[in-house]
Amino acid sequence: MTAQLIDGLALASQKLQSLKQKIETLRLTHPQPGLATLLVGDDPASRIYIRNKARACAEAGVCSIHHTLPANSTFEEVVEKIESLNQDPLVHGLLMQLPLPPHLDAKKLTQRIDRRKDVDGFNWQNLGALVEGASGLRPCTPTAIMAMLESQKIPIKGAHAVVLGRSTIVGKPVALMLVERGATVTICHSQTRALEAMTRQADILVVAIGKPRLVGAHMVKAGAAVIDVGINRLADGKICGDVDFEALKEHAGWLTPVPGGVGPMTVAMLVENTLQAYCALIEK
Ligand code: NDP
Repeated sequence: MTAQLIDGLALASQKLQSLKQKIETLRLTHPQPGLATLLVGDDPASRIYIRNKARACAEAGVCSIHHTLPANSTFEEVVEKIESLNQDPLVHGLLMQLPLPPHLDAKKLTQRIDRRKDVDGFNWQNLGALVEGASGLRPCTPTAIMAMLESQKIPIKGAHAVVLGRSTIVGKPVALMLVERGATVTICHSQTRALEAMTRQADILVVAIGKPRLVGAHMVKAGAAVIDVGINRLADGKICGDVDFEALKEHAGWLTPVPGGVGPMTVAMLVENTLQAYCALIEK
C-alpha cells in the first residue's frame, strides 16, 4: 500500500492564509496582533526556529518583535524581561525559545509568562485547562498533529492511538487531545517493554522521541496513520525524522514527511495561538 502523504507545508500555508484573512478583518477596527519572541543566548538552531516563526507571522499579518538576552543572563534578568513583555500592550503573545542555557530553570521561567500571552501553552494553568478539556492556549505541536489528522479525516473516535514519547511539549499533551477526541491511547517511552508489540497495535502512531529513523515498517501495522514529530540532524547535515520514511511510505496508510510535515504546521499553530491570545486580550 502506498501511504497518503500529509503535506505540512501546504497545510501550514492554507492555515496562514485563513489567519491572514481573519486578521485583516480585525484590523479594520483593532490594532495589529503582536508576538514577542525571546532568545537567551545564541543557539544557531534556535535562531533558525525564531526566523521561521517571524516569517510565518509576517505572512499572516502578525507583528513579530524579537528580543535577545546574553547567554550569561541571570534568572532575575530573564524574569525582568518577561515581566516587561507581560505588561507591554503591543505584545499579545510571548514565546521564550527553548532550550535555555543550562544555568537557567526553564520550567520556572516558563511559569512567569502571563498565561494569557502563553502562546506555547506550557504555563501550568493552560496545561491544567487541557487536562480538564477547558478552553485555553494549547501547545502548538500537539494541536498541529491533531489538525493534520483532521485534514485527512483520519478516524480518531474509537481508534487505538499509540504515542511514543512522554514529554510535556509533545507526548503528554497530544495523548490528552487524542483521548479528548475519543481515541484509546497508549503512551510509550524509554522504559516501555516490548515496544514493537505496542506500536503494531496502533491505528494512529505519533512518534516524538528524537531518535533518527528508529521506527521501521516492522513496528507499524499496515495502513496505520503515522505522524513523525522527530527532527534529527544527521552527520551529513541532513534532517530526518524518528520514522524510517522510505520503509514506511509503501506500508503506512498516511505518513508525514520530515522536513515538511509537523514542523511547519507547528509554526502555523503558533500564529493561530497568537491570534487566539490577541482576541481574548482585546475582548477583555
Ligand atoms: P524529549 O527528549 O523531551 O522526550 C523524548 C521522549 O522519547 C521521552 O519521553 C523518552 O522517554 C522517549 N524515548 C526516547 N528514546 C526512546 C526509545 N528508544 N523508545 C521509546 N521512547 C523513547 O523530546 P521532545 O518531546 O521535546 O521531542 C521529541 C522529538 O520531536 C525531537 O526530535 C524534537 O526535536 C522533535 N520536536 C519537533 C517539533 C516540531 O515542531 N516538529 C516540536 C517539538 C519537538 P523517557 O521519558 O523515558 O526518557
